[in-house]
Amino acid sequence: MKPIIWFVCILFSSVLMAQEMSIGVLRSYNVKRILFSYNQGSYQIFGDSTDFGAILPNEFVDIRFLSPNKISMNKGAVHLGNFSKITLVANQDSNSITLTSKTPKVKIRKYQGNFELSPEDKGLRIVNLVDMNDYLSGVVESEGGGGRDIEYYKVQAIMCRTYALKSIGKHEEEGFQLCDRVHCQAYHSMLRFTPNIRKAVKATENLVLIDEDEHLAGTFFHANCGGQTSQAAYVWNRDLPYLSSFKDTFCIYTKQANWEKRVPQQTWADFLVKKYNYPIYDSLYGAKIFHFEQSERTAFYHSAELGIPLRDLRRQFKLKSTFFSCHPEGLEVVIKGRGVGHGVGLCQEGAMRMAKYGYNYLQIALFYFPGLKVVNYLDYLYFRQRESHPENF
Ligand SMILES: [Zn+2]
Ligand SMILES: [Zn+2]
Repeated sequence: MKPIIWFVCILFSSVLMAQEMSIGVLRSYNVKRILFSYNQGSYQIFGDSTDFGAILPNEFVDIRFLSPNKISMNKGAVHLGNFSKITLVANQDSNSITLTSKTPKVKIRKYQGNFELSPEDKGLRIVNLVDMNDYLSGVVESEGGGGRDIEYYKVQAIMCRTYALKSIGKHEEEGFQLCDRVHCQAYHSMLRFTPNIRKAVKATENLVLIDEDEHLAGTFFHANCGGQTSQAAYVWNRDLPYLSSFKDTFCIYTKQANWEKRVPQQTWADFLVKKYNYPIYDSLYGAKIFHFEQSERTAFYHSAELGIPLRDLRRQFKLKSTFFSCHPEGLEVVIKGRGVGHGVGLCQEGAMRMAKYGYNYLQIALFYFPGLKVVNYLDYLYFRQRESHPENF
């Protein structure tokens, strides 16, 4: 083997085996004051480069934003000083710490990994430096909740890993790789439902979904498809072969499968006529302004020529999905719908039921993402490298 191959192998394995992620947390808020308190195992505190000892059981540090250049730190009632950077380092890998944002008040969170805090223009930048597996455990927990079958968690872990690796660098300019908000994947705490999630993340270590062009796939998911998934183009104007529409009977008996909503006829008509010039005096369309039958998923109300996307109606009337039919009753329009969410990609309730019925993670992943492949990301990087630089191999 040429030395370069050794180098590439060592590089990839060292990058991935202990891949550390940097995640901006509490990014939905402008945090001005936060407490870090003992949860499991001690954390060493540094103000700039000064070591202030550890946070021990029943102890906490109180960190406040002062200006775009300075933050202050108290340990209990003792003022430790003002700094441009505060670092909290876990004394062991498995340690975790509790975060309580005081201004504004936010539900407490627990995270693993280390923390770096620094001032931004108007508040604190709080960055969690965390091992990939620990990060994914937090994401799977935030996105999927507790009490699921392990095969379901494995699918969710593969999707979340793929999404994270595909999105890495999104927040580079802000000083971290990803944030904790939904657009980067929710990462809102962890350690409540951990054992099965951790096992699933570990069992699928490095596995990702790639498409036929060998790119990391867009691993979209939603709560319940209502019996038929949606083509990506119906939601985002862009189609991908593995985000196609197909029947899914695994989710149709679950509690979110059917819903109903009523809207005053006047409100419905006003919206259609004013916003989209609905042809209310047209002999064909006039009579069916409140009547719409959708037995198969479609993108538009009545027909594409009217140009009324169902996703606009969903947004306007806060409907659970675009997969609905409607009819008039009294002075109202009765909207009867199926499913919850955009309907693209994996249907969570369907996937959970598949897992319950004994399907394994590969069967579930490939049912919802037909045409994709599950591969080891290390091999994927290695082969891509070999393709782009064959002279080195
Ligand atoms: Zn983000
Ligand atoms: Zn479904």
